[in-house]
Amino acid sequence: MSGASGLWPLQFKPTSIQAGAVGTGAGAKSAGWLAHFSETLDQGTPSIDLLRKFAFEGLTRTGVPEALGGDGRSWADTVESIAELAQYSLTASFVLWSHRTYIECVVRSNNPALRERELPKLLSGEWAGAVGLSNAMKFVCGLEPMEVIAKPISRAESPEHKWRVNGVLSWVTNVRSSGFSIAAAAQPSAPGPVPVFAFRSDMPGVQRGEDLALIGLRGSDVAAVSLNDVPTAAEHRLHDNLTVWLTQVRPQFLGFQCGMSIGLARASIATAHERPARRAISDPHLVGLSRDLEADTGILYEGLNNGRFSSDPAALFRLRIAFARHVQQALHLELKAWGGQAYLEDQASGFARRWRESALIPVITPSLAQLEIQLSLLK
Ligand SMILES: Cc1cc2nc3c(=O)[nH]c(=O)nc-3n(C[C@H](O)[C@H](O)[C@H](O)COP(=O)(O)OP(=O)(O)OC[C@H]3O[C@@H](n4cnc5c(N)ncnc54)[C@H](O)[C@@H]3O)c2cc1C
Repeated sequence: MSGASGLWPLQFKPTSIQAGAVGTGAGAKSAGWLAHFSETLDQGTPSIDLLRKFAFEGLTRTGVPEALGGDGRSWADTVESIAELAQYSLTASFVLWSHRTYIECVVRSNNPALRERELPKLLSGEWAGAVGLSNAMKFVCGLEPMEVIAKPISRAESPEHKWRVNGVLSWVTNVRSSGFSIAAAAQPSAPGPVPVFAFRSDMPGVQRGEDLALIGLRGSDVAAVSLNDVPTAAEHRLHDNLTVWLTQVRPQFLGFQCGMSIGLARASIATAHERPARRAISDPHLVGLSRDLEADTGILYEGLNNGRFSSDPAALFRLRIAFARHVQQALHLELKAWGGQAYLEDQASGFARRWRESALIPVITPSLAQLEIQLSLLK
């Protein structure tokens, strides 16, 4: 595991989160340029191509098997690279999460032709990857009906296509106007397993809406995508059975997601620690929180590397909830450390952005409410 849990030990070795000050994992190289773009990534469309940057720095390849063009490192390394970006910008971290999670969907697809077709451009950052799986995940847990429907097409109508797909994916991240693929499930009108497809922006009937008017994370290309009679064939299938497939990809989907919380909490703890006047008040809490955060990070990395979460999903659900709480506590300690200054524009560097960024953590699917429901059902 690269630079993982030892990164920010209890002594708060780093005294600042300036460019290059922290991080030994793959994402550390990004620190210099990313610190410069944190605010514009959050509030507008910055003049940088995040995916190309990630590809240049090897982040799209982290944790992908060497035989498929990756660096052959571990999934813990992938989480660490997502965490390191989140120390500077949750927008960048969220984009890498979306892109890298889609890559994982392609890597684990039981459709090798699709993998060969899609992977090279995803790894080079030329094509964006997204996961529109919120609705499907809630559907599998019995929380809501499927909103995307696959209607069979007769051979007479189209010999090469099997379905016409209709529906709306209300929120999708990393749908870049230059081209994207989205992993999304579509329920066939006849009973049977629900297939998962890779819907590409160049397929007829795939339509990206305007960027959603978000309160932050505006550089993350979040939009609704409508699927209007999209002619879909077996070649577009990532997997033929959503329920089976979700069990296979869930450890990475959720585990990678935890990286966003880890990095954001680390950034807030470090900033709180830098406020010497308040240190006496906050230090014991900061030390305790940092210890818990890094202990949970170690448990996450170990579980991802030894495959524990495939047979014990509840352990991963509990960790995802714990990380969300660590973020909340870290933000409150940072606020306490800044005091009233936090409320003055441009006085508390990065605080307002982190406060907005932290609002994503409990609501991104699976939301804390959803995880708590699932945990209660597993008892
Ligand atoms: C910036 C941003 C980017 C996003 N990007 C993506 C993306 O890339 N891909 C994607 O698929 N989705 C994405 N989403 C969507 C997100 O993951 C959620 O699906 C979306 O926020 C709506 O889910 P919700 O649970 O809040 O909504 P609702 O289902 O309307 O739920 C509202 C509230 O009720 C709770 N709730 C729901 N059902 C129950 C129940 N049965 N019992 C008790 N409580 C319940 C929820 O937890 C929530 O607190 C994104 C969202 C945001 C904000």
